[in-house]
Amino acid sequence: MDKVKFVAATNNKNKLKEFARILEPLNIEVLTVSQCGGENIDPVEDGETFESNAIIKAKAFAEALGMPALADDSGLCVDALDGAPGVYSARYSGEGDAANNALLLKNLEGVPMEKRTARFVCAICCAYPDGRYFTVQGECEGKIGFEPKGSNGFGYDPLFFIETGESFAEISGERKDSMSHRGKALRLLAERLEENEKLRNK
Ligand code: IMP
Repeated sequence: MDKVKFVAATNNKNKLKEFARILEPLNIEVLTVSQCGGENIDPVEDGETFESNAIIKAKAFAEALGMPALADDSGLCVDALDGAPGVYSARYSGEGDAANNALLLKNLEGVPMEKRTARFVCAICCAYPDGRYFTVQGECEGKIGFEPKGSNGFGYDPLFFIETGESFAEISGERKDSMSHRGKALRLLAERLEENEKLRNK
């Protein structure tokens, strides 16, 4: 497949880093919003699902910039909190990552380990300037710990524990990618792009 260029419809540097790390080896080149002159594009993310917010973002950037766009909408769904913070993950406390983690721990006070099950969800939308688009989704199961551990990653990574007993912030970026919601979604995206390319060349 020829190297395809997409604008990554996000200003989140951590997401961008993961996008590049996962997509570059799959021959998909990602440009930043500022590389494409899209700094002023700021769609309102008022969808009720990860998928609908990803669609809003990708379509807005693809249409405004006249080039294919990829958008990620993602978050953490905690069973004991009926799926919260969910689509509100980034704005849970209104005061950034450290405060979000503190609020999550407070809201889970008294909940025993076996009931602290959670999953990260990532919806990716790939949109084209002519209005076509498709979405893929990846999920990753884990448990919310009693205190943050590790200094890698971002967001809720220090509180998200995988089967080995390590948090996402304690493992390497490459190991996170191999099992993460974003890694799964982006690999599905690459498969879909490959299939579409084959259909076009038939
Ligand atoms: P979005 O930019 O509206 O999609 O918000 C995503 C939010 O979900 C981030 O700000 C993080 O709080 C959380 N999140 C999504 N993916 C991850 C991840 O891989 N690790 C940790 N937190 C994540």
